[in-house]
Amino acid sequence: MRILIISDIHANFVALESVFADAQGRYDAVWCLGDVVGYGPMPNECVEMVDEVTNHVVIGNHDWAVLGRPGIDVDDFNPMAREAVLWTRSVLTRQNRALLDRFPDVPVQPVEMPDLLLTHASPREPVWEYVHTPTIALENFAWFEEKICLVGHTHKPAIYRWRLERDWDEETGSKTIGAATVDHLPLRAEEPILLDVSAEQRLILNPGSVGQPRDNDPRAAYALLDTEQMSWELRRVTYPIDLTQSQMRAVNLPRRLIDRLNYGW
Ligand code: ZN
Repeated sequence: MRILIISDIHANFVALESVFADAQGRYDAVWCLGDVVGYGPMPNECVEMVDEVTNHVVIGNHDWAVLGRPGIDVDDFNPMAREAVLWTRSVLTRQNRALLDRFPDVPVQPVEMPDLLLTHASPREPVWEYVHTPTIALENFAWFEEKICLVGHTHKPAIYRWRLERDWDEETGSKTIGAATVDHLPLRAEEPILLDVSAEQRLILNPGSVGQPRDNDPRAAYALLDTEQMSWELRRVTYPIDLTQSQMRAVNLPRRLIDRLNYGW
């Protein structure tokens, strides 16, 4: 199966449409890792499209904040994010709020792919924790058993590889289980990599952000996962950023949220 993996759309419908146009004909299913709304100007359109096209979706922290669920205080957000959350609440239709409210807040294991896990933030803290260092990744590998976990939330594409080292025991002449290590694999857009997984090698994969990339590349990011070839292709798509920015200006979203889209941070 070929799966289109999207995450952190953040109500940037122009970027989302560009991603679907770029991926056209190359996927059989769509999985979304959350943060469909927050920051951007088109929350209703994004919730409707994600609900319509995705086979699996999980909720993100911004989605959760917009719903006003207990456990998330919007005052914990930075002032710009908070303003965007409050504006999103004011424009989200009752029907779309109900759709968003149905997205699960626990990691999802797809029935058709039981060796994979989907979560917004991390396996340990599905809505909040940032997996952005090998040390944090290493701790999180203990929180799931599947070979591959897909995460979003950082808005930066990444691959973390967990390996169980084997030591040679001279006395018994056999291998013993050694320590687990995690490294950060380099990845380049449009260059598919083969996912080599086993009981001794597992992966955490992050496709980056559709609607607000933060790796100094302003292009929309997404990934294509081919579960037969066992390949992962990160893709970057140029989209009309100025169109999203004019939509944001029209509804008075904070200036810095508008400007940051130019720089990808
Ligand atoms: Zn996000």
